[in-house]
Amino acid sequence: MSKTTCPKCHGNKKVQCPYCDGEGGKTVTETCSKCSGSGWVTTSWGTIQCGACDGKGVIEYFKKCVHCGGNKIVDCPYCMGTGEV
Ligand SMILES: [Zn+2]
Ligand SMILES: [Zn+2]
Ligand SMILES: [Zn+2]
Repeated sequence: MSKTTCPKCHGNKKVQCPYCDGEGGKTVTETCSKCSGSGWVTTSWGTIQCGACDGKGVIEYFKKCVHCGGNKIVDCPYCMGTGEV
């Protein structure tokens, strides 16, 4: 039984993360929890623009891919990261 170079990763043992398409994550938009999406917060001295979201009501942030941890690559599932099959 001879081993051959893995055709999926070509012996690199790593492949582009299929979960994030090699992006390392994605930008997600979430409703601002501080102002509940209104863009304004009420303080003891009045209503002011929400500083957490700059009055936009939503917060955009880059969410790292949980599968590759933002590395954009994962162990090749075809050869289990050995590079050979
Ligand atoms: Zn806000
Ligand atoms: Zn990923
Ligand atoms: Zn492989």
